[in-house]
Amino acid sequence: MNRLDFLKNLGMLSAGATIFPKYLSTLAKSPFTELRNGVGMFSLQGGTIGWYTTDGAIVVVDSQFPDPARAFVDGISAFGNGPHKVLFNSHHHGDHTGGNLVFEQDGYSIIAHANVPDLQRTAAQNSDNEENQAYASTTFADQFSFDAGDETITAKHYGPAHTKGDSVIWFENANIAHMGDLVFNRIYPFIDRNGGAIISGWINLLETVAGEADSETLFIFGHGNPEFGVTGSRESLLHKRDFLSHLLEYTREGIAAGKSREEITARTSFDEFPDHLSPSDFLSLPRNLDVAWLELTES
Ligand SMILES: [Zn+2]
Repeated sequence: MNRLDFLKNLGMLSAGATIFPKYLSTLAKSPFTELRNGVGMFSLQGGTIGWYTTDGAIVVVDSQFPDPARAFVDGISAFGNGPHKVLFNSHHHGDHTGGNLVFEQDGYSIIAHANVPDLQRTAAQNSDNEENQAYASTTFADQFSFDAGDETITAKHYGPAHTKGDSVIWFENANIAHMGDLVFNRIYPFIDRNGGAIISGWINLLETVAGEADSETLFIFGHGNPEFGVTGSRESLLHKRDFLSHLLEYTREGIAAGKSREEITARTSFDEFPDHLSPSDFLSLPRNLDVAWLELTES
């Protein structure tokens, strides 16, 4: 579908009925947080959702899982309503696309980088979860942009990093960008080598995006150390860049000194990055070092 067809289709979408779920009112704290200029975030379970509402349009980044997605599509009506509804997927991982079907059934159009549908389909096949998927119907190679209200929303792909299908979604007038999983804020990141991740590309991306930002730019992150949260400034991007650079350098030096893969990946923390949290073995320095070792030794 080209951009014009996409915009025409948007015009044909209709608003679904929305009912605020009862259990949301029993939560101590609303999962909806307003940031500025109509942009906010939502967190229940999985990668942080970003949202923008204006007269007649809702633009969302990422869908978490089916239950939080249902809570989102019902609850967002308190902030604004359609009929134009757009969902971006920052990348294909299940904690960012697992609620896609709920959004699609509520009338949202799904947009993602061109590599996302295939990566998502393969991951769903591997976890025997294909029937619960909805895939982007509009994809782009480098950039996708449109206006809604007084906002310009631009999704940009900067090359392979956390996966080979990452986008940063910019809300240009609000000066807010959703980073997907390109920043695990002070957490050891998942580096999805099977999904096309490249650490050196990730380092360049963070430097480029930080350079496109200014001191007022607010970033939304997929995941964060509770002490540091899921929003931050370009300093948080540069901190993650420095961590990834250190990761590659440490591994490169180990290889040069004749250390084995096992010796290199035995390290569990860096003194230079004492804030990095490891919530599980899956998100840990040994896992990160192993991906770095694979990247540096591939022929
Ligand atoms: Zn991810």
